[in-house]
Amino acid sequence: MRTERYDIIIIGSGAGGGTMAYALADTPARILVLERGDFVPQEDENWNPEAVWKHLRYQTSERWIDERGDEFRPYTHYNVGGNTKFWGSVLYRLRREDFHPLEHMEGVSPGWPIDYDTLAPYYERAEHLYHVHGELGTDPTEPERPAFPHAPIPHSETIAAIVEQLRAQGLHPSPLPLGIRDGCVLCNTCNSFACKVHAKSEAEVCCVRPAIERPNVDLWTNAYARRLLTNPAGSKVEAVEVEIKGETVRAEAPLVVVACGAVNSAALLLRSATDKHPDGLANSSGLVGRRYMAHLATMMQGFHPFRKNAAVFQKTVAINDFYFRGPRTNYPLGHIQSQGRTHGVMAQTVVPQVPLKYYEWWVARGVDWLAMSEDLPDAGNRVTLDSKGRIHLRYRPNNLRAHGMLVKEMRRVLYRLGFWVVMTHSHGAKNTTHQCGTLVFGDNPRESVLDPYCRAHDVENLFVVDASFFPSSAAVNPALTIAAQALRVADHIRTADLRIGTADLKVGTTNAATANATVGNVDRRT
Ligand SMILES: Cc1cc2nc3c(=O)[nH]c(=O)nc-3n(C[C@H](O)[C@H](O)[C@H](O)COP(=O)(O)OP(=O)(O)OC[C@H]3O[C@@H](n4cnc5c(N)ncnc54)[C@H](O)[C@@H]3O)c2cc1C
Ligand code: SF4
Repeated sequence: MRTERYDIIIIGSGAGGGTMAYALADTPARILVLERGDFVPQEDENWNPEAVWKHLRYQTSERWIDERGDEFRPYTHYNVGGNTKFWGSVLYRLRREDFHPLEHMEGVSPGWPIDYDTLAPYYERAEHLYHVHGELGTDPTEPERPAFPHAPIPHSETIAAIVEQLRAQGLHPSPLPLGIRDGCVLCNTCNSFACKVHAKSEAEVCCVRPAIERPNVDLWTNAYARRLLTNPAGSKVEAVEVEIKGETVRAEAPLVVVACGAVNSAALLLRSATDKHPDGLANSSGLVGRRYMAHLATMMQGFHPFRKNAAVFQKTVAINDFYFRGPRTNYPLGHIQSQGRTHGVMAQTVVPQVPLKYYEWWVARGVDWLAMSEDLPDAGNRVTLDSKGRIHLRYRPNNLRAHGMLVKEMRRVLYRLGFWVVMTHSHGAKNTTHQCGTLVFGDNPRESVLDPYCRAHDVENLFVVDASFFPSSAAVNPALTIAAQALRVADHIRTADLRIGTADLKVGTTNAATANATVGNVDRRT
C-alpha cells in the first residue's frame, strides 16, 4: 500500500472541512484535504430545474436504510464544498438563548459547553468569509452583534409589499442574512441549485479554492476515507485509509480533522472500530451516532389564483416572532423564512402524474415559505452500520406539536395576507439537509464524544468540525455556526500546544511533520 505523509489531514470539504482548510492554509503545515466527491462543473445544468429536481444530477446515488429497513436516497451531496454548493446561503447566528437549556413543549433542549459570547468573534469572521448581507435591529431575537458585513439584499416588489402587510399584522419581519458574492444576478435557481457563476458564498469558492492555491495544501478528490487507523494503544489516529481511483492509500498525519457531515462522520468512526475501540472509535460514551437531529421543516405556499407572483429572487425575509413563544403558547415554536421560487418540476415530484403545465400555472401564483422548528436530541435517533457497512438512519421526529402550531400560525398569517389556499409539504423523517448532533461536544467525557474544542475525548489527535458537534439543533439554519466553530477550532490548533503522544505538536511555530513546528503564525484573512 502506498503511504503519503502530511502534517494535517482534513476529511470533507464542506462547511466544516472547507472552512478549516481555509483557516489553516496560511500556516507552514502540509495539509491534505480528502473529498469523496469531485468538483461540481460550471454548466447549464446547474440552473436547470429538470436536471436538478427530476434527474437528481448532483444528489448522491447512495442509499441509506430507514428504521423500517427500507432503502432511501438521502438528499445530500458528495462534492467539493459538500452541501454548501446547494444551500440557500441563509447564514444565521444561533440566538443567545440557544446556547442554554431551553424548555420546549416536549422536553428541554440542552445547553452548549460554550456560550454565545465565546462564539461571537468567530461568527463575525465567518460572516466576513462568507460575505453575509443583513440588517441590524429588525429581528427581535437577534443577539447583540456588530453591523453585518454587507447591506441586506433588497426585497422584490412582491416581498416588499408582503413585509408591509406583515408589519400591519403586528409582526417583525427582518431581512434574511444571506451569503452572496459580487456577480450575483439574483436568479430563481439558488436554493438547492449550484451557482453557475460562482456568486453564492459556499465552501468551495470562499474556502477550498483559496486554500489550495497555497503550495502547502493538497486536495484529493474522489478520495473516500474508509477508516481511521489507530496506534496499538488506540489513543491516536496514525493514518487514514483512503480509497482513490481504485487504489488504497495510507495517508499519515499527526493531526486528523474529520468533517464528513453528521451522518458520515459518525459512520466513519463506527467503521474505524478496533479491539481497543470495539464500539467505534472515540465511543467510550456510547454516543457516537446517537442524538441525530435534522429540524422539523415544512414547506408552505400561499396561492392566489388572480395574483401572479412576479418575484424572481424571493428568499429575503424572515419572521422570528414565534421563535421563543407563540401567540397561543409560552413554548418556542420556531422560525419562518421565505423560500426560493418553487419550479413546476419541483412541485411535480410530489404527484408526478399531474401534467407539468398545471404545476407551472400554479407555482406562478404562489409565494413560498419554510417553517422550521427545533427537534430535540434523543439517544434513540441514531446512525448505525450493518455488517455490509451500509448506513442505517433511525429518526423519529419529536417536538411535533410545537411544529404543528408554528405551521398553523403561519397558515393564519398567510390567509390574513389574502392567499386563497395554503399548501404544505414536508419530507418528514427523510429530511437530512440540516443533519447534526451525532458526535456531541461537551465537558464530560461520559456524556459527550468531543470536548468543547471539538477534540475527541478518547483520541488525542482527532478533531471533528462538522455539524456533528451540535448538542441541540436550535431553529435557525446551522451552517454559520459550523463555520464559526471550525474557525475557533482552527485558532485553537494554531495556538495551543497540543500534547499528542510524546511530541508536542505546535501548529503555530514550526513544521508539525518534523516536530515542534509552526502551523500558525496567524494571518487572519477572515
Ligand atoms: C439544499 C440545501 C439547502 C441548504 N440551505 C442551507 C442554508 O440556507 N443555510 C444553512 O445554514 N444550511 C443550509 N443547508 C445545510 C448545510 O448545507 C449543512 O448544514 C452544511 O453544509 C453541513 O456542513 P458539514 O461540514 O457538516 O457537511 P457537508 O457540508 O455536507 O460536508 C461534508 C463533506 O464531506 C464529504 N465526505 C463525506 N464522507 C466522506 C468520506 N468518507 N471521505 C471523504 N469525504 C467525505 C462530503 O462529500 C462533503 O463534501 C442546506 C442543505 C441543503 C442540502
Ligand atoms: S441568486 Fe445569485 S448566488 Fe444564487 S445562484 Fe443565482 S446568481 Fe448565484
